[in-house]
Amino acid sequence: MKKALIIGIAIVFGFALFMGGTPTTAQAKTTFITVGTGGITGVYYPTGGAICKIVNKKRKEYGIRCTVESTGGSVFNVNAIMSGDLEFGVVQSDRQFQAINGSEKSEWAGKPQKDLRAVFSIHPESITLVAAVEAGIKSIADLKGKKVNIGNPGSGQRQNSIDALEAVGIDYKKDLKAEGIKASESASLLQDGRIDAFFYTVGHPNGSIKEATSGKRKVRFASITDVDKLLAKYPYYAPAVIPISFYPNAANKEDVKTFGVKATFVTSAKVPDDVVYAITKEVFENFEDFKKLHPAYQVLTKKGMLEGLSAPIHPGAMKYYKEAGLK
Ligand code: GLU
Repeated sequence: MKKALIIGIAIVFGFALFMGGTPTTAQAKTTFITVGTGGITGVYYPTGGAICKIVNKKRKEYGIRCTVESTGGSVFNVNAIMSGDLEFGVVQSDRQFQAINGSEKSEWAGKPQKDLRAVFSIHPESITLVAAVEAGIKSIADLKGKKVNIGNPGSGQRQNSIDALEAVGIDYKKDLKAEGIKASESASLLQDGRIDAFFYTVGHPNGSIKEATSGKRKVRFASITDVDKLLAKYPYYAPAVIPISFYPNAANKEDVKTFGVKATFVTSAKVPDDVVYAITKEVFENFEDFKKLHPAYQVLTKKGMLEGLSAPIHPGAMKYYKEAGLK
């Protein structure tokens, strides 16, 4: 009986090899894609997970196998997509703008990333300054002389921190002890007293800030002032508010005013149209299910997901937007 089964399998296998070279067609057609995200306690990581979850459900139909990778953040993601190491990534809208334009002062100064393509926008992100109450930091101007994590090179937040500091006349190189540590480590460093404050450009609510505000050391959101100057100077910044109800253990009593950007989903012109089309279609056609995958998506609208994009929209995504009457 067993022997007969083995022979049977061998015949089927041999026949499949004879017919197409590989035993199953589904395997032969699988396209593997990886989405670059951020630290695992941020919102990018679960965002990559949410997109993959929706797409992987239709694996039989599209033959796409989507996985996520935790990375250093926006700048890392743009560069990895451009070098072909990643197919997709979550990237701050300001970073998308700088990369496609080769903006002065950015990592891509004089080197526009011509192959960068926009797919859609996702949740809003706020420039968030978290500080220990005992360090006496109430506002960004109080950071002078303090030990502050402004963000790792490769993160989106690093330049936001520098811009915010500059608006209040603080030079991060001279006026404070700036650290360049990954966001996933900020909360524990603050709780352990090894830093006085940290910046994080992130969607709310998120695990990192919950962790930072829930420990023994009392923590508050320090106010970011001179936002008007930033809004006047940079086209990609917008006013933003952090709802304090998300963080009941923070010392603040009221919502926190700051400035913000959007998280966006990007790819390369080299990624095939059918792959980008499939992802776009699945996210938009399952929009209500998608929105349930993270509380930071509560505010999403389909129309809003086409705003804040500065790189050309990938033709695969555009095909869906035209079909759906969104463009
Ligand atoms: N905005 C951050 C960055 O670009 C990442 C935030 C997150 O992981 O949610 O580096």
